[in-house]
Amino acid sequence: MYMARGLLLVISGPSGAGKGTICKKLLETNPQIRVSVSATTRKPRTGEVDGVNYFFIEKEKFEDMLELDEFLEYAKVYDNYYGTPKNYVLENLKNGNDVLLEIDIEGALQIKEKFKGGVFIFILPPSMEELRNRIVGRGTETEEDIKKRFGSALDEIKQVIKYDYAVVNDDLTRAKEDVEAIIRAERCKVMRVYEEIQSRF
Ligand code: 5GP
Repeated sequence: MYMARGLLLVISGPSGAGKGTICKKLLETNPQIRVSVSATTRKPRTGEVDGVNYFFIEKEKFEDMLELDEFLEYAKVYDNYYGTPKNYVLENLKNGNDVLLEIDIEGALQIKEKFKGGVFIFILPPSMEELRNRIVGRGTETEEDIKKRFGSALDEIKQVIKYDYAVVNDDLTRAKEDVEAIIRAERCKVMRVYEEIQSRF
């Protein structure tokens, strides 16, 4: 069944839960999904590419964009600004592509206010111990950053209740399949296809 509008997929979860890895795997086999590249004032990590991982911009530029209402949502996370540029998301949804946002909880809640049809997915680690191992093992953050990220994780997990779906990332393949199952089920929601059904029958 043809659907004119794509799904807005919002994925959150504590640092180290594996959101990025799940999203990457999801994109390999789901070419209709577009990823929104966020703007951030955080400095790039080794290997990160401007325009691919993020648009790395100065604080002044971020504030200019805010002033011009160019963000769909934004938040200050661990002392840096992060925001979703508006145009890319709206254009793609209009064209029937699904758009994936990997953003923090504060930003996700802003989207929830604006998009009644958004799909909100929370990625959980199998345990706190495993979460710590993953953040440390990543080796990309300073000691202080690791403390901040791990310290926020439990508070973040308590907010899972505000999401539609929870996916535990204990096995990457299964977690990715869970997200695909969510997407398939969402496409069949009557509220999404009702207009189309009415026009056909
Ligand atoms: P990181 O510094 O590890 O790349 O990201 C830190 C946090 O910022 C993660 O929870 C990530 O999901 C979130 N984040 C990334 N981009 C955005 C964005 O555009 N908006 C919001 N609200 N959060 C974002």
